[in-house]
Amino acid sequence: MPDIRPTVGSGALVLNATYEPLCVVSVRRAAILVLSAKAVCVADGEGMLHSARNALPVPSVVRLTRFVRVPYRTHVGLSRRAIFARDGWRCGYCRGPAETIDHVFPRSRGGRHAWENVVAACARCNHTKGDKTPAELGWRLHSSPAVPMGTAWRVLGHRTPDPRWADWLDLREPETEAAA
Ligand SMILES: [Zn+2]
Repeated sequence: MPDIRPTVGSGALVLNATYEPLCVVSVRRAAILVLSAKAVCVADGEGMLHSARNALPVPSVVRLTRFVRVPYRTHVGLSRRAIFARDGWRCGYCRGPAETIDHVFPRSRGGRHAWENVVAACARCNHTKGDKTPAELGWRLHSSPAVPMGTAWRVLGHRTPDPRWADWLDLREPETEAAA
């Protein structure tokens, strides 16, 4: 077992043998995969990892040497963090920094707690909105709330992606930059 001190917090992206992104693991776990020849390093991070016998660059992206079949979770859990991440930590109404979660159609009036009815919101907009709908206030949502989809979401969830992973994940949304 190599004595590897974690140097970066972002972890390492694991690709299947087919280069399909699978998951994010700790840098230590990725290093063990590489040292045990279960994976090869595709992109280095910053710095070196040292064990008793080895020194290797911090892995940022590793690819498994053997294909693994993985059943995918298709639903992204509706958590506070996940909602903030989807909305880029910005208020759905004024685009200011988000601090709260707003139910677009108020819960008090039967609005559902579902991806399509929640947005990140700043405290001021949330307070002003109260139990009214955006239409009643003449407000417009920056974008229609939707269930997050795509490879990046499946792999990252609410994690902040390392820019080095962009080649393998579909990170074209401007929100992912705001999340960094
Ligand atoms: Zn706002």
